Amino acid sequence: MRIDVLTLFPEMFSGPFEDSIIKRAVDKGIVDLNFVNFRDYSLDKHKKVDDYPFGGGAGMVLKVEPIYDAVEDLKKENKGPVLLMSPKGKPFTQKMARELAQEAGLIFLCGHYEGVDERVKELAVDEEVSIGDYVLTGGEIPAMVIMDAVIRLLPGAISDFSDVEESFENGLLEYPQYTRPREFKGLVVPEVLLNGDHEKIRLWRLKESLKKTLSVRKDLLQNRNYSEEELRILEEILSEGGK
Ligand code: SAM
Repeated sequence: MRIDVLTLFPEMFSGPFEDSIIKRAVDKGIVDLNFVNFRDYSLDKHKKVDDYPFGGGAGMVLKVEPIYDAVEDLKKENKGPVLLMSPKGKPFTQKMARELAQEAGLIFLCGHYEGVDERVKELAVDEEVSIGDYVLTGGEIPAMVIMDAVIRLLPGAISDFSDVEESFENGLLEYPQYTRPREFKGLVVPEVLLNGDHEKIRLWRLKESLKKTLSVRKDLLQNRNYSEEELRILEEILSEGGK
């Protein structure tokens, strides 16, 4: 996959992608990362990329021309969708990460200040994407979040990737995980995980997943198709006083 990032602060990306899984994915050639400062596309003699908002109001707005020219230039090499980072965008989800991981390329556009001129969206953007209902200072961290979620799904990025049971993959949050030691400060690992009975472990994990989701993310349970087994376990949890 080729990923291009349009940003005024390319140096912000140096830390997060120079370690661990993402660095290995880059080293293995699974992903090719390219950071472009769209200030370089400004025709202004002072390389200005922002201006006051028409109609008044606080802050500065990123101008359409340099961003448009930068996107057009990148599109010659990268045929993937252009994603504008924006709190006004479609909420980013694991499902979206899976869809984006199928693309041969992605172009991220990071806003700053009060955001981008609306015409950028009409002329140069395929999707406006938000990482949550809060406002950050710039689109760099949202782009990093989405890139991380997508890159780890690329074939070969994680060697023994058994992702099917991760949070959100089956519409539920993941069950609790434990490793050695068996006991720490009086807290012991649930017995069921130690006895090697895979069916019992599977049922325990499913119940814990349902319990966790019910307790903190009831919204995930609403638009979900349930197996008979899940419905039976859910009833069991409710009869035990689970909320
Ligand atoms: N004035 C904008 C508004 O009220 O919607 C907020 C602009 S914000 C200060 C500056 C930039 O940060 C945005 O253009 C966007 O690129 C990025 N940003 C901030 N919060 C974000 C979020 N939750 N998801 C994605 N991008 C975000």
